[in-house]
Amino acid sequence: MVWSPAHGPYKLPRMADTIFSKILRGDIPCHKVYEDDLILAFLDIGPLSYGHTLIIPKEEVATLDQLSDETAAAIGRVLPRLCRAIRAVTGVEQFNVLQNNGPMAHQAVFHVHFHIIPKPSADQGLGIEWRSKKLDPEEGAKLAAALSKEIGG
Ligand code: 5GP
Repeated sequence: MVWSPAHGPYKLPRMADTIFSKILRGDIPCHKVYEDDLILAFLDIGPLSYGHTLIIPKEEVATLDQLSDETAAAIGRVLPRLCRAIRAVTGVEQFNVLQNNGPMAHQAVFHVHFHIIPKPSADQGLGIEWRSKKLDPEEGAKLAAALSKEIGG
């Protein structure tokens, strides 16, 4: 079933058995860029720009909030190195790192992944509509306190 707002609040899926699981199992090919025990990185099949690369964990979860600390750390260790490699090979200095969670947030494959997308010119790479509002100071203080309490920071 494809979710629509008529179905009520969207529940993020927990299980991830997707096209990326097939890539991890070697059932379908990819243009591999990097692999270690916890991570695989490969070229996106529908690049927004030359060099568009995906980094996925071998841990099969759908969204970032479900990822273990161990895998999160492994991604964090490799992400800047991949960015440097992509910069060096494409010659493009600017880039976006994108990570989508849920269909409204533009996630199409429900296996957590990061995009590294070179931005060679204004009309290539990731386009962003940034509809910012003003943060109310009182509301901001309450929200930051609630978040801080939740995360135990
Ligand atoms: P999302 O919108 O979920 O953040 O992005 C999913 C990405 O996966 C898209 O950019 C899409 O082009 C890419 N993708 C989907 N299927 C495949 C595939 O079979 N192979 C590769 N290499 N990329 C894929």
